[in-house]
Amino acid sequence: MNFEPSVLGAPSFAGRVLASLVRRFSRLVPSGPCYCVCCSKNSPFFLPFAGGTGAALLVNCKLDVVGSDLERYSCPKCESNDRERHLKLYCQKLGIDRLIAGARILHFAPERHFASYVAAAGPTEHLKADLFPRAADIQKIDMLAMPFSSASFDFVIANHVLEHVADDARALSEIRRVLRPGGLAILQTPYSAMLETTFEDAGIVSNEAREHAYGQGDHVRLYGRDIFSRFAAAGFESRVVHHDAALADFDVTVYGVNPRESFFLFECI
Ligand SMILES: [Zn+2]
Repeated sequence: MNFEPSVLGAPSFAGRVLASLVRRFSRLVPSGPCYCVCCSKNSPFFLPFAGGTGAALLVNCKLDVVGSDLERYSCPKCESNDRERHLKLYCQKLGIDRLIAGARILHFAPERHFASYVAAAGPTEHLKADLFPRAADIQKIDMLAMPFSSASFDFVIANHVLEHVADDARALSEIRRVLRPGGLAILQTPYSAMLETTFEDAGIVSNEAREHAYGQGDHVRLYGRDIFSRFAAAGFESRVVHHDAALADFDVTVYGVNPRESFFLFECI
């Protein structure tokens, strides 16, 4: 991994106000140099992240957390976030969509745009799952106790999910169980290279305390430099690809992605 630290920009108050206004009047946003791979439209800018408290942003800044691009977060025309755009770029560039074609996909917390991309790739099965589903086509599934036979899927996709799961070792064990040998898991999650080991404390339960501890009120841990050893312990072999190795030709300002976020691909061994 490339763990070189850099400054994480925090969105300003003015940025949040702008984001709110643009969302309301998105149809009036003109064309521009920025390009969204989710809606295939150009805009003059991407919108900054509008949520999070000052305390949360401070944690992300102080611990140099690699995660979302808070300055170039949301597309003003389709509201895709940078994580969806980045994942789609990685999958297109690395030919993951060709692997998805004809495959059995288990997709946790499916983002609208990325789920459409996966569906368009032509999987045999695309099972969308969430502990708290908010759409009729998403099944209520607990990642810690999945109602699936072993080796049921070729792919598991969980984009920024593990940081929300109470027992990630059990979740990883379940993901490995339901994947066939040689199956692949896309497991993006925030981390801080400043932490030698992953920080989690079951005694931190309030949203406010979690914002102070992990940088987001609904996170239950912040991964550290041991992140890959935790995945390896669950039986996964790293196929992680760095941004510059796959997407060096893509201007991060134009495409609105975080160049420090690698593609977290793991193979079930
Ligand atoms: Zn868009």
